[in-house]
Amino acid sequence: MHYISTRGGGEPRTYVETLLEGLASDGGLSVPASLPTVSAEELESWRELDYAELATEVLGRFATDIPREDLAALCRAAYAPEVFPTPVPLRAIDGGITLVGLSEGPTLAFKDMAMQFLGHALEYALERTDGVLNILGATSGDTGSAAEHALRGKDRIGVFMLSPQGRMSPFQRAQMYSLQDDNVHNIAVEGVFDDCQDLVKRLSGDLTFKQAQHLGAVNSINLARITAQVVYYFWAWLRATDAVPAPRRADSAVSVTVPSGNFGNILSGYYAKGMGVPIRRLVLAANENNVLDEFFRTGVYRPRSAAETLATSSPSMDISKASNFERFVYDLLDRDPSRVRAAWAELAETGAIDLSAELSRLDGEFGFASGTSTHEDRVATIRAVHAASGEVIDPHTADGVAVARRFVEDGVPMLVLETAKPEKFADTIHEALGIDLDYSPELRAMLDAPQRVTEMPNDEQALRTYIAEHARH
Ligand SMILES: *Cc1c(COP(=O)(O)O)cnc(C)c1O
Repeated sequence: MHYISTRGGGEPRTYVETLLEGLASDGGLSVPASLPTVSAEELESWRELDYAELATEVLGRFATDIPREDLAALCRAAYAPEVFPTPVPLRAIDGGITLVGLSEGPTLAFKDMAMQFLGHALEYALERTDGVLNILGATSGDTGSAAEHALRGKDRIGVFMLSPQGRMSPFQRAQMYSLQDDNVHNIAVEGVFDDCQDLVKRLSGDLTFKQAQHLGAVNSINLARITAQVVYYFWAWLRATDAVPAPRRADSAVSVTVPSGNFGNILSGYYAKGMGVPIRRLVLAANENNVLDEFFRTGVYRPRSAAETLATSSPSMDISKASNFERFVYDLLDRDPSRVRAAWAELAETGAIDLSAELSRLDGEFGFASGTSTHEDRVATIRAVHAASGEVIDPHTADGVAVARRFVEDGVPMLVLETAKPEKFADTIHEALGIDLDYSPELRAMLDAPQRVTEMPNDEQALRTYIAEHARH
C-alpha cells in the first residue's frame, strides 16, 4: 500500500513515511493510492474481535510496511483497558438514535481514539529510524490535550503546545497544565489563538530552524489519525448489527451522523464505507460555522475569514475552512490531480470552488447529507434527550443528534458519534438542564492538581530560545 499526493507531485510513500510528514511536498495531502477493500465474509469474521484486534485488522490494510506482530502490539498499547476502560460502547437514546461512545479516553473527546494510536506509532517509527521529534502546535482546547496525553513520557518526542493565556476553560487548562512529564511543555502566550497559530506557522516555515529542532506536527491532516478513525466505523457497524439474524447482516446498512469541523472524522467514515462497511448515509452535522453544510447543499465551497468565524457553544467545530476537505474533492474529481490543482487555483483567485456540476453525485453516489444546528437547537436537544432517555450529552454530540433527527429513516439504524463528554462543557449543560454535573474522583483530582505552564509574551525570539533549550535532540 502506497500513499500519493492529491496534487500529483512527489514520490509515492509508505505508511511509516506519511506518519512523520505534514503536507505532501507539493502542498497537497497524502491519500491511499487505492482504498483497500474488505469482503462481507471477512467483515463477518471480525465480529468476535476486541477493539485492539479489530484495529490491527483494519490498520493492517493501511500500514502494510509495519510487521503484523508490531502493529498488534501498537494497537494493544493504544487501546489498553487503562487508557480506554470501555472502548466504544453503543447506547440507544430516543427517536431511533444510537450514540457511539468515542469519548471514553483520557481527555474525554474522540480525538483520543486516533491520537493514542499515533503516539505509539510515532514512537515506533522514531525507534526504527533512530530519530527524535518535537511536536509544535497551537490549541484552543481538544487537540492539544489529546496530543499531550498521547505523547507524555515518550523518550524520543517533545511536545511544545501553545495556548492563549486566560482564554481556555478551567477544565481545559487543568487537562493540559496538570501534566508533570518533562517532555510536555505548555506555553501560555499573551494573545489569542490566532497569535499562537501565527507563531507556529512562522517557526515551522523557517526550514533551517525546523530541521535543527526536528519540529513536526500532529494536526488533523495527519493520515495516521484518519486511518485510526476508520476502525470505529467498522466497530460501530458490527455492534449495531450484533442482534440482526446472521443471514440478513450483510444487507443491514446503518446511517452515521458526524459532528464535523475539519472534515477528518467524517472522511474516515467515507473511507470505511468505501472499504465495504454497509453505511447508507453519512450525515455531516455543522454548527453555525457551516461552510461544509453549505457545500453539501449547494456544491460551492466558500471558506470564511477568521473574522467571519463565530465562537459557538460547540467550540471544537468552530472552523473557517476544513483542512481535510481536499481529500474528498480528490475523489469527487475522479482522482485527477490536475483537476484538484485547478480547483485550488480557482479558490485562490475567487475565494470559492464551484463544484455544483457534481451536486447530484454528493448524495446519490457518495451518500452524503448535511445540516446545521444553532445554539438554541443544541440546548433544546440536550434537554429533550435528557428528558426522554436520562442521558446527558455534550453540545457537539447534541449538534449531531439535532441534525440526525432530520434524516432518520424507517428500518435504518441512525448512529450519532459522541465526540465529547458533557463534563468538558459544564456551562452549556448548566444552561440547558440547570444542573452541575458531578465530577468523578479522577476528574476532581485532575482539576485540583498543581499546574505546570510557562507564560510567554507573544514574541517569536523568546519561543525560539525556549524550544532550542528544551527540545529533544
Ligand atoms: C475535533 C472535534 C470535532 C470535529 O472533528 P473534525 O474531525 O475536525 O471534523 C467535533 N467534536 C469535538 C468534540 C471535537 O473535539
